[in-house]
Amino acid sequence: MFMRTHELGLESARLLESLGPSPSFTALYPPPRCPPMRLLLIEDDPMIGAGVQQALRQEGYAVDWVRDGVAAELAVGDNPYDLLLLDLGLPRRDGIELLTRLRTSGNKLPVLVLTARDTVSDRIRGLDAGADDYLVKPFDLDELAARIRALLRRQRGEAAPLITLGMLQVDPARHEVTLAGEPIHLSAREFGLLSALLDEPGKPLSRAQLEERLYGWNEEVESNAVEVYIHALRRKLGAEWIRNLRGVGYYLAEPK
Ligand code: CA
Repeated sequence: MFMRTHELGLESARLLESLGPSPSFTALYPPPRCPPMRLLLIEDDPMIGAGVQQALRQEGYAVDWVRDGVAAELAVGDNPYDLLLLDLGLPRRDGIELLTRLRTSGNKLPVLVLTARDTVSDRIRGLDAGADDYLVKPFDLDELAARIRALLRRQRGEAAPLITLGMLQVDPARHEVTLAGEPIHLSAREFGLLSALLDEPGKPLSRAQLEERLYGWNEEVESNAVEVYIHALRRKLGAEWIRNLRGVGYYLAEPK
């Protein structure tokens, strides 16, 4: 009996390892265009639930939110979701129990577990029960969005696309940027800012919108942070790449 538990643990640890380090940051890919992907958020904490729902709606997802395991199971039975975001500590039916029931009944939806339980054994239980990925609270909203995109992509069997604008090329999966073939080294925040601007080149984003993209809800934002990162990006890419529309915001444009 001990051996069996031990082996299961090892296997899960390997699986956990194979998931790799979490992407340090960000808006790695453009938000999904229509039709929107539909996500079910299962979370009983009102503040976390509201924060995640709002953030993911801003990313372009349709997000339904239920607060207990029984409501979640009913919702999954009634609606065509693309992905589940699952808290583990839930009223009425625990997250692990819910996940086990879904997998036992043949449900293969991607499941991203969000939990405050951060011991290795809890993670292993979640993965053994059929979770596809794991985030420990408190987490960065941009990292959450990136992991959702990765799971949805994996589900569709797609490789990560390169994003190109003129001479500028961005590899979202590797966080690599080249300009006319020359590598540009960016910090995680600079990369996040560039990714946000790349989502819709030519469309100005306000400082508040950029702050939202760059920071999680539990992070302190320094008042001039966006300007600092804009300045750094201009220095590295060339000032003409990032334009300012006075009173509106910043946008990315290929230099003429
Ligand atoms: Ca909870």
